Amino acid sequence: MFEKVIGNSKIKEYLKTSIEQKKVSHSYLFIGIEGIGKKIIAKEFAKEMLCLSEKNCANTCKSCIEFESQNHPDFEIIEPDGNSIKIDQIREMQRKIQEKPIISDKKIYIINDSQKMTKEAQNCLLKTLEEPPEFAIIILIGSNESLFLDTIKSRCIILHFEPIDNNSLKKFIEDNYDIKNIDAETLKIFQGSIGKAIDLKDKISEYSQIEKMLKELDKKDLIEIVNMSKIIYDSKEEIYSILEYINVILLELSKLHYKYTKCINIVENTKERLKNNSNYDMCIDNMLFNMWGEVN
Ligand SMILES: [Zn+2]
Repeated sequence: MFEKVIGNSKIKEYLKTSIEQKKVSHSYLFIGIEGIGKKIIAKEFAKEMLCLSEKNCANTCKSCIEFESQNHPDFEIIEPDGNSIKIDQIREMQRKIQEKPIISDKKIYIINDSQKMTKEAQNCLLKTLEEPPEFAIIILIGSNESLFLDTIKSRCIILHFEPIDNNSLKKFIEDNYDIKNIDAETLKIFQGSIGKAIDLKDKISEYSQIEKMLKELDKKDLIEIVNMSKIIYDSKEEIYSILEYINVILLELSKLHYKYTKCINIVENTKERLKNNSNYDMCIDNMLFNMWGEVN
């Protein structure tokens, strides 16, 4: 189990031991940033719990075969419907989870991106967490712990996933893609996330440009800054990754000089405005203008 998953060895060990010692809980909350293997680990964990073999199954039992072909009747992953996980989705799950398992002796539900459950959905889920059927296990996966009701959290075993260390991340990219000699600057772009590394590995030069622009924010005039920022105008699709990266660089700069601290707020405000569907180019212009004003 977990052989192919990088990082978070303590959590993997803990989950493995809890299966071996038959001390599995009814509800878990996996918390951590995107792209560090929470869902893969949850699925491997579920597969192992459902497995019918005593040991070394290697996908030979009925349960593992059904699991691999994504047909396991005792296992389901719930994903957000649009921007949220709605109360109807939770009600549906609650109805199904009461029915006895068919192949295995457990029934397992993963709720992915579960911080997107509406408050009503969370309150509804609470009933099942308080009195789960004896065979039921629920694994919540989320990136922002503060969005969960305390009552939910108190019912779950909470496991905090760590970002992947730079050495493992470097090895992963170099082993799997035709990219060699990744330096420390580039690793910063990935922020400890395998998911980010896969998404951004081909955009390393664009990200370096952004870093250069930020480091020269207090040396160039506004026109030059806007010219250097073409990459941001052209990257509407991945603007949130870029804004996060901008904040990583600003955080570094703010350790050298206090004046960069306020720029971080400006970036956060820009994120909010974009989420509220403000005009894209105008938001970016405002952000650059305000950041430039802060440091000059
Ligand atoms: Zn098996």
